[in-house]
Amino acid sequence: MKLAMIGFGQAGGKVLDRFLEYDREQGSEIVRAAVAVNTAKADLMGLENIPEENRVLIGQARVKGHGVGADNELGAEVAEEDIDEVQSAIDNIPVHEVDAFLIIAGLGGGTGSGGGPVLAKHLKRIYTEPVYALGILPGSEEGGIYTLNAARSFQTFVRETDNLLVFDNDNWRQSGESVESGYAEINREIVERFGILFGAGEIREGGEVAESVVDSSEVINTLACGGVSTVGYASETLDRERKGGLLSKLTGEAEEEVDSTSTTNRITSLVRKGTLGRLTLPCEVGGTERALLVLAGPPKYLNRKGIERGRKWVEDETGSMEVRGGDYPRSRSEKVASVVLLSGVTNVPRIKELQQVAVEAQENIDDLRDASAENLDQLVNDNDDELEPLF
Ligand code: GDP
Repeated sequence: MKLAMIGFGQAGGKVLDRFLEYDREQGSEIVRAAVAVNTAKADLMGLENIPEENRVLIGQARVKGHGVGADNELGAEVAEEDIDEVQSAIDNIPVHEVDAFLIIAGLGGGTGSGGGPVLAKHLKRIYTEPVYALGILPGSEEGGIYTLNAARSFQTFVRETDNLLVFDNDNWRQSGESVESGYAEINREIVERFGILFGAGEIREGGEVAESVVDSSEVINTLACGGVSTVGYASETLDRERKGGLLSKLTGEAEEEVDSTSTTNRITSLVRKGTLGRLTLPCEVGGTERALLVLAGPPKYLNRKGIERGRKWVEDETGSMEVRGGDYPRSRSEKVASVVLLSGVTNVPRIKELQQVAVEAQENIDDLRDASAENLDQLVNDNDDELEPLF
């Protein structure tokens, strides 16, 4: 499907930048338009693939291009004040050619966390296309203020979007890595998962036709229940050279003999692995409202039977009666990958924990604020109030 993507804040911009790279490598054309919005000039300048004219610096009058310093209330205010500047960039997007908007933002910071929901609300007022967001939760080691920001932003994003797809940094942390190289790896993971999900349903002229191709409307219908979504992924690299044998090497034609039973079994087990493995937001899959399976790979390695079996299994596992499924043919790919979108999930202990830490952080911040006002008063004034200020 074709998306207008808006990267809001630093994390949002960086992930969008990676999406453009992925699109180019895969020839997938998911990103019909890309706009980066930030309050920090340096972050916008660091982007590589987003055209200069699509980088919007907001809040110059308030923060002079230096960012909002993890203050998401300020991020929201600045976005509201400068929404016309964001709209001007969106005016250049051929919106009639896009299937949906996707706002990408880190929920723990200030600019994307606060400004993202403001933009979602604005877009929903103006356009009829669905407005989705990809919200990134901070790692738990990032501390109280990031957790508090994320909990408040999460709540607001869910209210203002048609669906909030969540990626939890905490679930993807790798020890022993620098933050930056860690993020580079995490961002690759994000783009691979969401790239397959949104890449499905894009049948190009002269493109490959598989048995049951996922259409963009199936992605949209799955997300239409609203609320919160998570995505599972599993892949298996194909040993195509061995299968193709000497003959295929000589002729250059891959005359692969593909056994249909093993294709079916591979697909079924990839669907199970994808659903039960590491989700972008860990949750209990039971009670999921809707689901979509996308099987990506060379058409020969995809079949209707496998998807049908996988679909039934997901129905049993989630209890949902609305499980869709289909193919995303990619003949050049060396692997078969399954992406499982679970939409409208409600049993998410990680969010409950996040909220609890956020409430504690908020109480702490309030207590400290009160205490420090009192302490300052005691410091500045002499014990018996004998001194007076000058004026
Ligand atoms: P903003 O610029 O004020 O919106 O804030 P940032 O985007 O810099 O940071 C918000 C949160 O996003 C951080 O607390 C991190 O959890 C996360 N984050 C920052 N950069 C990246 C990134 O490149 N990838 C991922 N996955 N998360 C990031």
